[in-house]
Amino acid sequence: MTAVADTPATSTLRDGAFGNARSLVCRECSHEVELGPHYACPECFGPLEVAYDFPQVTRAEIEAGPRNIWRYKALLPVPTDIEQSPNTEPGFTRLLRADNLARELGIDTLWVKDDSTNPTNSFKDRVVACALSAARELDAKVFACPSTGNLANAVAAAGARAGIRTVVFIPSNLEQPKQVNSAIFTENLVAVNGNYDDVNKLASEIAGEEDGWAFVNVNVRPFYAEGSKTLGYEIAEQLGWRLPDQIVIPVASGSQLTKVDKSFQELIKLGLVEDKPYKIFGAQATGCSPVSVAFKGGTDAIRPVKPDTIAKSLAIGNPADGIYVLDICRRSGGAVEDITDDEVRDGIVLLARTEGIFTETAGGTTVGVLKKLVETGQLDTTLETVVINTGHGLKTLDAISDRVGPAATIEPSYSAFTAANIV
Ligand SMILES: *Cc1c(COP(=O)(O)O)cnc(C)c1O
Ligand SMILES: [Zn+2]
Repeated sequence: MTAVADTPATSTLRDGAFGNARSLVCRECSHEVELGPHYACPECFGPLEVAYDFPQVTRAEIEAGPRNIWRYKALLPVPTDIEQSPNTEPGFTRLLRADNLARELGIDTLWVKDDSTNPTNSFKDRVVACALSAARELDAKVFACPSTGNLANAVAAAGARAGIRTVVFIPSNLEQPKQVNSAIFTENLVAVNGNYDDVNKLASEIAGEEDGWAFVNVNVRPFYAEGSKTLGYEIAEQLGWRLPDQIVIPVASGSQLTKVDKSFQELIKLGLVEDKPYKIFGAQATGCSPVSVAFKGGTDAIRPVKPDTIAKSLAIGNPADGIYVLDICRRSGGAVEDITDDEVRDGIVLLARTEGIFTETAGGTTVGVLKKLVETGQLDTTLETVVINTGHGLKTLDAISDRVGPAATIEPSYSAFTAANIV
């Protein structure tokens, strides 16, 4: 728990190291802990989360900021001079009106938040940028993570730009493109014979033994997780400072979904958007759907599973924030749904053919679940809906390489072309 700088955080931290953040607060018992490399409540072992004393923040101040996540720095646990430190500067990705997909699915108004255009082509650049800031302020010597793939890409790239040593751990059966996308940025890609949950356990062990390691999603997880709030801030700002009625979000650990909800609540409290109800839906692949199973079973108990799905970036069998996802989806009137691997592939092709967006298996899961939610009457097709695309299809080519390819292979002559009857 004290892998980074073992001394009391307050004595070594510079003023304003975490911006407007006040403390770390336990999600279970509300016990407060000082800001530092802590992630579990000393009273009840519940997860810690960043709490703030926000000043008045205006739309104009935010709009005057840079076109990346630091435009929201007043709402994040980062210092006011954050833009001075090399980072990958993710965010402010496009929010596309998806009329073709909407028509295909029978939805009135649909938007795609396309996070595949971040620096390393997934939403993970957002969380890693915040974790890097925390690692710097805590004077970490090593920037590390256990990863299902995209996180390793983002950590390795951000560490390279920041000039800090990186070590990234992945399951050894990970897609080849995701391995290369990490190894290109770091010499220390470690492939572990086991699934993500095994890799995560190993990371916790190393974090407990080694000094000066910042594991982005282990001992600096509270700071890392806050980065996902920027997805929600951007969606609201890009809609003209409005919340959508419904939003569909993929679920791995569940962190992203809970933080989008937190971001909407903060915008309401700060008076930056009008208060209104919204429904949050979670998306999983059936081969790793512990949260969806619990949702449908009407229980709070999430039974860990051994993942078996092509949606590897969502393959967390024991999701840390699963119970909070259940709570948010139930409270908001949403749902958690899951689809088969074949439906994941269908989702990838559907988004590509309707909107020209090539998503990875996680996005195929989200789009496929959106379709299923419509077909099963769980989603109101008359309400404004946003679906999040969290990653890029070039990283999971294998998933659809036997689905799409040349319509014909022909000789280079006009007669051969007409004979092939292509159009
Ligand atoms: C990590 C990841 C997610 C989900 O993240 P959680 O916050 O752990 O639920 C979704 N999509 C992609 C592409 C990811 O890499
Ligand atoms: Zn507690």
